Amino acid sequence: MEEGALLDTATTWVEQARHVAVLTGAGISAESGVPTFREAQTGYWAQFRPEDMATEEGFRAHPRRVWDWYQHRRGLLAASQPNAGHVALAQFQQRHPGRITLITQNVDGLHQRAGSTGVLCLHGDIFADRWLDTPRNCCHIDHAVAGHPPYCDRCGNLLRPGVVWFGEPLPYATLEAAQQAARVCDLMLVVGTAGAVYPAAGLARIARDAGARVVIVNPQPTELDAVAHEALRGTAAQVLPALLSEAH
Ligand code: NAD
Repeated sequence: MEEGALLDTATTWVEQARHVAVLTGAGISAESGVPTFREAQTGYWAQFRPEDMATEEGFRAHPRRVWDWYQHRRGLLAASQPNAGHVALAQFQQRHPGRITLITQNVDGLHQRAGSTGVLCLHGDIFADRWLDTPRNCCHIDHAVAGHPPYCDRCGNLLRPGVVWFGEPLPYATLEAAQQAARVCDLMLVVGTAGAVYPAAGLARIARDAGARVVIVNPQPTELDAVAHEALRGTAAQVLPALLSEAH
């Protein structure tokens, strides 16, 4: 089928769906200029391995370096804006309250800044801080002493970015809610994710097995192509406004 016909079919599926689940990954933020993990490691940061910046072991070994890298990424994100893909999802939710569940692997907050609410953030929030070790009575985030990273001046507990690092479990209730949305949806859109990171990528299979249609939006082939009924080979900012607009 040619691209236009594929889009028409997918648009019909959107119209027919009582419930739409959307899984997004780093690709939806590419057109906002948000660098991927690897791309953010330019200049001074290029000498460090990405794995060492995204594990608890890496943070414990080099807390200053890893904290400063997250501060650097927070700065890049603060300077970026949601793109037409984020906006199309937020506007669809505003026009159709309760009809869409947005699940993201991104930690960048761009869906929320575009106006989406109730976003299920599987991998946390880069702008949130939390304690590295189980907090004691003395640990209050508001009272943490400034530093690289900030710390509790009573016990020395360190603050760390509130993202899910490699080897860490996903937030249980958030994953449960995402799996439930995958089970009950009629249509799942998989946008801008390579489909290589589990359990997030498994949501597409859950949806398919439960009888939903699965549509991929990605300019490149992905590891989930075999699970999908259709793949729309365009960028998120091109395809989502066309797919979700009221005009259809
Ligand atoms: P990934 O980097 O593995 O894959 C990105 C995918 O996006 C690729 O399939 C690519 O073809 C596609 N893509 C590129 N440009 C696109 C566009 N304009 N429109 C649509 N698709 C496009 O990303 P992932 O699958 O999300 O997994 C990487 C992990 O890294 C995730 O766990 C995520 O939490 C984390 N991460 C998050 C951010 C962020 O928050 N913005 C950025 C980098 C990495």
